[in-house]
Amino acid sequence: MAKKVNKSVAASIFNMTCPKCHQGDLFTTPTFSFSKPFDMHPKCEKCNEDFMPEPGFYYGAMFLSYIFTGFFCLGFVMFFHWGLGWSTSASFGLLLAVCALLFVAVFRLSRSLWIHIVVRFDPDKAARVSKEN
Ligand SMILES: [Zn+2]
Repeated sequence: MAKKVNKSVAASIFNMTCPKCHQGDLFTTPTFSFSKPFDMHPKCEKCNEDFMPEPGFYYGAMFLSYIFTGFFCLGFVMFFHWGLGWSTSASFGLLLAVCALLFVAVFRLSRSLWIHIVVRFDPDKAARVSKEN
């Protein structure tokens, strides 16, 4: 029986699924399992889309990650220091802990966003894949 295909690109980015069919997983393990945090499937298990189209493909994801992290850190410290009146050391201490915890999630989200920018959703392929599985 064919299951309904999720057409939302945003949902696919956050669920870290294949940009082409929105069904296969990009990564081999769940984000917060913290095992094999950087391992991706070489190809989509459902539609065979290549997740490594060229060497150094995810170089651009590094810039996305840098932008996310930069603004997040700025806002985080400003909120705790000026908003809640914490000391600078305490604000940065908590920031380090939060960044360490979220590192894998930010890394994966950046890669997911990057491949979704480059590869477009294909509704026909998604429907075909969903019928086969
Ligand atoms: Zn796919």
